[in-house]
Amino acid sequence: MIDRRVLLFGTAAAAVEVLAPATSADTGFPSRRWVKIVFVHTGERFNNLYCADGAYIIPAIQQFSWTCRDFRAGQWKWIHPWLMDLVFVLHWEYNKDEIKILSGYRTPQTNAQLEGAALNSQHVRAMALDIHIPDVDSDAVARDFKTFIYGGTGMYPGRGFTHFDFGPLRSWVG
Ligand SMILES: [Zn+2]
Repeated sequence: MIDRRVLLFGTAAAAVEVLAPATSADTGFPSRRWVKIVFVHTGERFNNLYCADGAYIIPAIQQFSWTCRDFRAGQWKWIHPWLMDLVFVLHWEYNKDEIKILSGYRTPQTNAQLEGAALNSQHVRAMALDIHIPDVDSDAVARDFKTFIYGGTGMYPGRGFTHFDFGPLRSWVG
């Protein structure tokens, strides 16, 4: 029932406690998790369970990764499931409706063509998402979460999104 890939991702479950304070005695995080997103450039949606009984559901992560692919290049890469956990927490924190994704994975070629994108962007590693939560101020999201996420938080005032990644711990204003 549990295959190798699930075990591979299993280590991520422990680290999720960094993302969310413990609320129960065992893992401190709901063992059943879902996200509902739309990738704005294609209008494609992912609205599904991606974690059940504390184990990531590999086909769901694959589908989420495809939805958040480099649409310019038509290529995808496995998105780190911690990012899905982050989106799950954002649902909890702000609303229970659809969250917009502006950027997920980018090929190095696409990334190099984007104005203002860092050369060593975590998007190239599929470790970053640019997120817009409808009716929530993006700068406030960055402020709320930069002390909460063990990774990168980028605030882009006036541009309507917040960048999150699981690279080194840092925050910036773009
Ligand atoms: Zn970004």
